[in-house]
Amino acid sequence: MASIIDGVKKPTFDASKVTVIYVLGGPGAGKGTQCGRLVEDFGFSHLSAGDLLRAEQNREGSQYGNQIRTCIREGTIVPQEITIKLLEMAMSAELKTRSGRGWTDGKGRFLIDGFPRKMDQALTFEETVCAPSQVLVFEADEEVMIRRILERGKTSGREDDNIESLKKRFQTDKELVQPVIKYLENKGKVLKINSNQSIEQCHKEASEAIHKVLV
Ligand code: AMP
Repeated sequence: MASIIDGVKKPTFDASKVTVIYVLGGPGAGKGTQCGRLVEDFGFSHLSAGDLLRAEQNREGSQYGNQIRTCIREGTIVPQEITIKLLEMAMSAELKTRSGRGWTDGKGRFLIDGFPRKMDQALTFEETVCAPSQVLVFEADEEVMIRRILERGKTSGREDDNIESLKKRFQTDKELVQPVIKYLENKGKVLKINSNQSIEQCHKEASEAIHKVLV
């Protein structure tokens, strides 16, 4: 966690060395697909908050398993103490594994997918872990997202890829995630991408933004 020197809290990672890009968008907006492409192009580490939570849920002996399962099924937000801890641990592990293999001198680049989804997460993460350099927000029409998720639900095995959970996830998005996006927009860090468009077009717009951040 953050260190405290002379009473001043310092984030765990130095934002001049570690580039953090948040990737947001409703369920089915294409976050995972676009992150996959950006990993190939720019050598990012892709950390999905949802994937980390699902892994923790399934980890034998986890004290958070049941709590996470309920939140995911209900489309609600898992408490920040759990989500941020998992992200911070994953970032540290990646920095350790990849230093000397592409990432030198403590430098790293992360796409943090599905985060932050609540104001407390946005504030705590930038204060104690790392400030983000850029935020990509993929926006699609609700009917497009429903179609994509129900299609994915045929094979994903995910407990929340069904219409009941989806409605709750959309509600959470409106109530909690949209205020976070406004907050980040006021900081001038947000690029919104229309993800009703083709995968290629979204990728092109996302790549251009990332190029500017990484120069
Ligand atoms: P996703 O895999 O991004 O579709 O997320 C699936 C579910 O995991 C969400 O509906 C939430 O219950 C939980 N989740 C994902 N990201 C977060 C987050 N940043 N904070 C809290 N809960 C999250």
